[in-house]
Amino acid sequence: MSELVRVERLVVDFPVRTGLLRQRRVRAVDGIDLELGRGEILGLVGESGCGKSTLARAIVGLAPPSAGRVLLDGVPVPARRPPGMRRRIQMIYQDPGSSLDPRRTVSQTLAEPLRRDRTVPAGQVGLRTRELLEMVGLGERQAHALPRELSGGQRQRVAIARALAVEPEVLVADEAVAALDASVAGSVLNLLSDLRERLGLTVLFISHDLATVRGLCDRVAVMYLGSIVEEGPVAEVFARPGHPYTRVLLDAVPSRHRRRSGTVARGLAGEPPSPLRVPPGCRFHPRCPQAAERCGEAEPPEVRRDGQRVWCHFSWRDGQAFEL
Ligand code: SF4
Repeated sequence: MSELVRVERLVVDFPVRTGLLRQRRVRAVDGIDLELGRGEILGLVGESGCGKSTLARAIVGLAPPSAGRVLLDGVPVPARRPPGMRRRIQMIYQDPGSSLDPRRTVSQTLAEPLRRDRTVPAGQVGLRTRELLEMVGLGERQAHALPRELSGGQRQRVAIARALAVEPEVLVADEAVAALDASVAGSVLNLLSDLRERLGLTVLFISHDLATVRGLCDRVAVMYLGSIVEEGPVAEVFARPGHPYTRVLLDAVPSRHRRRSGTVARGLAGEPPSPLRVPPGCRFHPRCPQAAERCGEAEPPEVRRDGQRVWCHFSWRDGQAFEL
């Protein structure tokens, strides 16, 4: 699978107010390297506040990198993206209601990007609008509806259709089904999977729900406090997680298929540390049930094994640690 998006040593800092007159910078994304292959679905998981959405926004061009870069098809993406480059990566949000204009009908919403980007000749906007609706499983009835007249699942389909209107190569879906009930979420996930097959779309799927990631994605990246701690094919990572944090997350997922003699099954202690006070060494060490002395002193190395990348001072097999 050829590479379409590459993230290199990406850093995103934000200013935050820490007192009446004091301001500090918080590092939401801290030196991430990541690749998306053409036509693949990559899941990005981790606790809320770990930086998933900031990474997504940086890839889409909504959060300027403080360092590092994003490459699209091998070409570095400039901070100010020209429209031709902007349209190639589109984002879908958790709450489509807030991203749709409440005064516009569905067909007006879809026609707007078609006219703005001149994706089709002016005389074909109506035809293309109907095609887009059909593509996401909606029809003539919904075309004339306002967002408030649609269900949550229908609104999310409209948001997907609007993203598709500019013919992107990459969709970034940030918790796109988190607000939907299970059966509606399932149908939207099927739609994403179907669009990947039909249009060859590449998808970055951000979710806190590992069961959904297992069903939808080809690969998964696990994020903790601004960094990737493990990444690899879904089948491998779910069967043989290489990082203690991944093991804890997976232990929270009900599964009939996952068989492991996990020693890291006791759950996580406490809340994630603030990004204003990132622990030294391995940033997971204050909460890691397996932490050893060196974990608080030195950053863990990247270890590659069977297509997986893991950042830990130890190599893990079935819950047992081995010295690297
Ligand atoms: Fe746990 Fe140490 Fe590995 Fe970090 S480096 S995940 S603290 S065992």
